[in-house]
Amino acid sequence: MASAFGHIAVAYAMGKTMKSVWGTTRFWIFTVVCCLVPDVDVVGLLMGIPYEHVWGHRGMTHSIMFAVLLGTVAAKITLSHISVWTKPYAVLAVYFGLVTMSHGLLDALTDGGLGTAFFAPFDDTRYFFPWRPIRVSPIGAAEFFSSWGLGVLISELIWIGLPVTVWLLGHRIFRRVG
Ligand SMILES: [Zn+2]
Repeated sequence: MASAFGHIAVAYAMGKTMKSVWGTTRFWIFTVVCCLVPDVDVVGLLMGIPYEHVWGHRGMTHSIMFAVLLGTVAAKITLSHISVWTKPYAVLAVYFGLVTMSHGLLDALTDGGLGTAFFAPFDDTRYFFPWRPIRVSPIGAAEFFSSWGLGVLISELIWIGLPVTVWLLGHRIFRRVG
């Protein structure tokens, strides 16, 4: 995994890119939930489900299928008063789906573990991007407070923090101009 900080930074940038009318408390709560929830599979890992299993770490909960499902559910809870057959619902479902997917994509940019099972449950193959600049984050919190954790934070500052900052600044300027 990338660290929770990395996942939240990307999700925050995605949320800020949406029109400000969306910026409700529920919207932000589900933005954070969607970008972090894929790692619930760590529970399975602790319970003995092998890493490479479809329900193992970076398996089913990191897939496109899971992102679509979570996106539709999160949008329904966020817009509980609106029909699912409306444009606002569709926009939000796609948004939450993409936020969820950002998690698996970031994991596929890390330099450790197994890759992301993007196409589970149809295909269990794990995928990495050819270029993996982000240091993999330890699964245990205790290990995070070590030189390993520090290395993760530095690599995420460069490869996530910097692009996210540039993106947010660019977005701000573009919005002002437009
Ligand atoms: Zn993950």
